[in-house]
Amino acid sequence: MSDRTTDSTATPIVKMEKLNKNFGSLHVLKDVDLSVTPGEVVVIIGASGSGKSTLIRCINGLEEFQSGALEVDGRRLEPDGRASKALQQIRTEVGMVFQQFNLFPHLTVRDNVTLAPRKVRNASTAEARETADRLLDRVGIANQAEKYPSQLSGGQQQRVALARALAMEPRLMLFDEPTSALDPEMIGEVLDAMRELAREGMTMVIVTHEMTFAREVADRVIYIHQGEIVEEGAPEQVFDNPQHERTQSFLSRVL
Ligand code: ADP
Ligand code: MG
Repeated sequence: MSDRTTDSTATPIVKMEKLNKNFGSLHVLKDVDLSVTPGEVVVIIGASGSGKSTLIRCINGLEEFQSGALEVDGRRLEPDGRASKALQQIRTEVGMVFQQFNLFPHLTVRDNVTLAPRKVRNASTAEARETADRLLDRVGIANQAEKYPSQLSGGQQQRVALARALAMEPRLMLFDEPTSALDPEMIGEVLDAMRELAREGMTMVIVTHEMTFAREVADRVIYIHQGEIVEEGAPEQVFDNPQHERTQSFLSRVL
C-alpha cells in the first residue's frame, strides 16, 4: 500500500526454502520457497485442501516438516521439531489469529489479552492491563473488557483475538482465514482492523478468501495448488493477469 514501505534488502522475517511436509503418505507441501521481508503483507490464496493452513502453521512451528530450511526472524527451525528453544522464541515473536477465535472462555476479554504478557513476558499486572486496554481500544472494543467471550459477537471475539496476539508485540502476524467463521455483517470490522495493522507497517501473512481485501492490502499474492506455489506476484498481476491456467480457473470460480 502506498503509505507503507517494505525494505526488500532487509533480512527476511520468514525464509523458507524447499520445504516439504507430509502427513503420513500425503505429500502436503512440495518444495515450498517463501520469503517475507519486514513490513510486507503476503496473502495466500488457493482451494480448500491445497495446504494453506499447513504452510502457515509451519511458520510458527505448529507443524513439523520433513525437509527443507526454515528461518523465522533469524531463528532456525529444524525439520523434525528439534531446537525447542528457537521454537519457544518464535512462538513469542509470531502472533497468530485463527478461523476459530480460540479465546479462553473462562477469562474476561481483558484477561485474555493480559495472560501471555504476564506469564511469558513477566509483565506486571498494571502494565499488562494498560497494554490490553490500549489494544482493545485500538480494535474498537474498549467497552467490552469486563465481558466474557461468549457474551460477544463473532466479530468482536475475533478482534479480541487480534488484540491478544498484538499484546505480545509480535514481529510477524499470521492469519488463517480470520473471517471465514463470521457472519457476513461482521467481516468488515475484522478486515478493517487488519487493514489498519497493515497500514501501520506490521509484517503479515494472511490466508483468506476475501479477494477484494486481498487485492487492496497485499504487497504480494501467492496462489497455492496441491501444496505447490504455482504463481505469485503483485495483486494486480495475479488477479488481473494470471499466467497459470490453474490460477485462472481458481479465480474464475471465486471472483
Ligand atoms: P487448506 O488450509 O488449504 O484447506 P490444509 O493445509 O488444511 O489445506 O490441508 C492440506 C492437506 O493436508 C489436506 O489434504 C488435508 O486433509 C491434509 N491435512 C491437514 N491437516 C492434517 C492432519 N493433521 N493430518 C492428516 N492430514 C492433514
Ligand atoms: Mg485451511
